[in-house]
Amino acid sequence: MSDCYGAIGYPLGHTVSPAFQQAAFDELGIDATYMAIETPTSDLSRRMSEVRNGRWAGLNVTIPHKSAIPRFLDGTAETAAAAGAVNTIYWRNGRLLGENTDVPAIGTVLENAEVKKGIRALVVGAGGAARAALLSLTARSDDVVIANRTRSNAEATINAVTPEQEIEILDLNSPSIGKVATECELIVNTTSVGMSGGPAPDESPLPTSALRLGQVVFDVVYRPEVTPLLAQAAEAGCRTIGGLEMLVIQGALSFELWTGKPAPLDTMMRAARTALATDSG
Ligand code: NAP
Repeated sequence: MSDCYGAIGYPLGHTVSPAFQQAAFDELGIDATYMAIETPTSDLSRRMSEVRNGRWAGLNVTIPHKSAIPRFLDGTAETAAAAGAVNTIYWRNGRLLGENTDVPAIGTVLENAEVKKGIRALVVGAGGAARAALLSLTARSDDVVIANRTRSNAEATINAVTPEQEIEILDLNSPSIGKVATECELIVNTTSVGMSGGPAPDESPLPTSALRLGQVVFDVVYRPEVTPLLAQAAEAGCRTIGGLEMLVIQGALSFELWTGKPAPLDTMMRAARTALATDSG
């Protein structure tokens, strides 16, 4: 019987993970299926019992379950423990474990784009993706500033993942956001502003005054591939990086945890692009 994998979250209507994970299993000739498994919070406990009972060989976890998952596991890997969030569930020697592959995915995206380390960086947002960005950027020795709409959420995020670091917090709507942002060489948007189907699909989280020639602007939002922020950044002469590469890399790292085999990244990226284009068209 083929092994079953999937992504749990709610709602899941927009996920492209099944397209690129299935393409990876097929490419390597692994008899497995990967599906979207809509799981409202009220069903999470039952879903995790199914994992224990062998129904699922491995899972990806997305909004809103990433921080609720550790209590269902036998342990969490170091990165997931530091992030307080799990996006990958896998078995190892009979133990059910959790990892967070968003953190290394961000590092890899920045490395692939040859973004210098130890630079001043602005993280916009303070949710789950911001936690991964904070961990990833501080591991690169970047000097991080965080800007969020709700200050208390930014404080909670810093206390949870980088309590020992001095990280400046800025109100996203503060008049000084433009000045502070232009002093940064890297901007990482982790808010859902600009995401299709999100709270503000046609907006950018930053004013034009925040962007300048030569900055690197990385938007973790991947739908659409060119978000309002990325369009605005390109116009200002910034180097832009979209969220799809991160999505595929975090999924590829999950695939490797499940199968122990190198993930076919090019195939996964092609499948993700096709799924996104088909779905948005
Ligand atoms: P989350 O935990 O719900 O956090 C949402 C963030 O967006 C918070 O900082 C929130 O600010 C901010 N926000 C929401 N609406 C806003 C608005 N109208 N104006 C200003 N700020 C607003 O979500 P998440 O899990 O971090 O995900 C955020 C985005 O990242 C989503 O689009 C998701 O698809 C994307 N993502 C991409 C990848 C990838 O692999 N490319 C991985 C993870 C996530 P407050 O604190 O003020 O509410």
